[in-house]
Amino acid sequence: MQYKHNLSNFFLYFTITNRQLDQQPTGIMALLDILEFPDPRLRTKAKAVAEVNAGTRKLLDDMLETMYEAPGIGLAATQINVHQRIVVIDISEDKNQPLILINPEYRIIEGEQDYEEGCLSVPGYYESVTRAEKIQLNALDREGNSFEMECNGLLAVCVQHEIDHLNGILFVDHISKLKRERIKAKLVKAHKAELKHRR
Ligand SMILES: [Zn+2]
Repeated sequence: MQYKHNLSNFFLYFTITNRQLDQQPTGIMALLDILEFPDPRLRTKAKAVAEVNAGTRKLLDDMLETMYEAPGIGLAATQINVHQRIVVIDISEDKNQPLILINPEYRIIEGEQDYEEGCLSVPGYYESVTRAEKIQLNALDREGNSFEMECNGLLAVCVQHEIDHLNGILFVDHISKLKRERIKAKLVKAHKAELKHRR
């Protein structure tokens, strides 16, 4: 997921630089390509992770790096064409509180909220989506241990948005067909222009 109001480039550069200094990676991290709507691969339903191992943790590191660089506040493995039930989220201001969700599930506790959502797979577009206000989340962490937490506000929005991705659902599926088709047409056009430019 993506904030509507991004930080200024300078501040972004500054925070990323700091983070890299603070957390020297143990391995070589890689930035991953993010699929963009209406790529049909975004419609794939992800499979549960059978075992959390070193490969999973390498993937998590790459996903976090990719999300921070974008910059986004959430990324699902589906978006990088890996169809496993893995999500990374960080809604903290300093981008230093990553939340890792493996095989996440949630149940709605109560309430509704509207939030203007964006998505790294639908770059440049923001629309208001209605979702549950309070949810109970359970998932496995980086070590494969299960945990539960209650989420509300922006975190609840983000968790629901990312779990949607694992089920092949995008935030534009929650808005009117007219708006969705308009965004689709504009992105298709932009992708064509980009391809032409690269040639
Ligand atoms: Zn998204």
